Amino acid sequence: MEQSGSNIARTNDLPERVVATMRKHGSPCDPRAFEVWYAHLGGEMPSLSAALNAAIAASDGIVTSADIENLHERFIGSERLSRQAERTSLQVLGEIEAMRALVEKALGASEIYHGRLTAMSEDVPPPTDRDKLRAWIEALVMSTREEVVRKSQLENELRNSANEIRNLRAALESTRAEALTDPLTGLANRRHFEEMLQKSIDQATLRREPFALVMADIDYFKRFNDAHGHLTGDQVLRLVARTMKDKLKDKAVIARFGGEEFGIILPEADLIAGKFGAETVRQALLTRELIKRSTNENLGRITISLGVASYRRGDTAGSLVDRADQALMQAKRDGRNRTITEDAIETAIRVA
Ligand code: GH3
Ligand code: MG
Ligand code: MG
Repeated sequence: MEQSGSNIARTNDLPERVVATMRKHGSPCDPRAFEVWYAHLGGEMPSLSAALNAAIAASDGIVTSADIENLHERFIGSERLSRQAERTSLQVLGEIEAMRALVEKALGASEIYHGRLTAMSEDVPPPTDRDKLRAWIEALVMSTREEVVRKSQLENELRNSANEIRNLRAALESTRAEALTDPLTGLANRRHFEEMLQKSIDQATLRREPFALVMADIDYFKRFNDAHGHLTGDQVLRLVARTMKDKLKDKAVIARFGGEEFGIILPEADLIAGKFGAETVRQALLTRELIKRSTNENLGRITISLGVASYRRGDTAGSLVDRADQALMQAKRDGRNRTITEDAIETAIRVA
């Protein structure tokens, strides 16, 4: 049911306002988009609202699926994951407390049993008094049997508790992994990449080992999306990610830096080795033809441009990313589908 603009203003029904507003801004209508708009119109996340309003202002009122994905990841995904992590942590603490109580109970029970044995050993009837001796032995057997039953119950409870803790630990680990991963490509996300870049800088400073940073960006991707649709565009992002994973060594850190831009840290690589890594990926992509599964249509080839910088003493994450970005922009200016190293930009500037 469509609603007119004036009805939208009057109604207090949030879900309907959400749908109407999404339509007004040409927003995609998937569940993630709904979550973003719902949080915005519900007024529960001012920082999300500010970012959404900025996106609206920047694009004549149109909100794209790239905007939605970005907002969802920044404000909703991270919020959900931190709530999830907090809940699991509380459960772990609860289980640890239960385990501590069990151990205490076990120690208390052992003490009682030990006390009984000590008392009985001080009161052994004379071997001649057969009736007393029988009663004494029966009491001893009874106590021991009780102790055995109690021990096995406690063992079971402790085992269950240990299993529960193991499950919760696995849940925490997967929440953490999810928080560091780009959901579309499975690569590291920008946050993880920035952490790893800082780590690489710290290590390079300490050990005087080189490393290279490659920034890569898909060429004419907007055109591709416009021609074949955003979903097919998403497949291209996955293909680029897979090619990078296939072609680079395990030690390389590969991330989706944002949108259609990727960042790669190549440990122990100088500028030449960095360029080699970048070229390996670029050339591998050239050999992969894109076939649209639903129609068997050949969508041609995808190309990327790459910029490479290598760590210099005193570099910060920002200065290094900046140089790799400059090289990437030079690659775009030079005609795309190529790799430019930072020394080549300096040459260009000197020549100019
Ligand atoms: P250039 O060669 O200069 O890089 O041109 P371009 O069209 O690739 O660059 P531009 O920055 O103009 O456009 C980037 C496009 O990337 C726009 C946007 O639609 C698309 N994009 C960004 N994120 C995503 C995404 O998650 N999925 C899809 N399918 N497209 C995305
Ligand atoms: Mg691009
Ligand atoms: Mg780009």
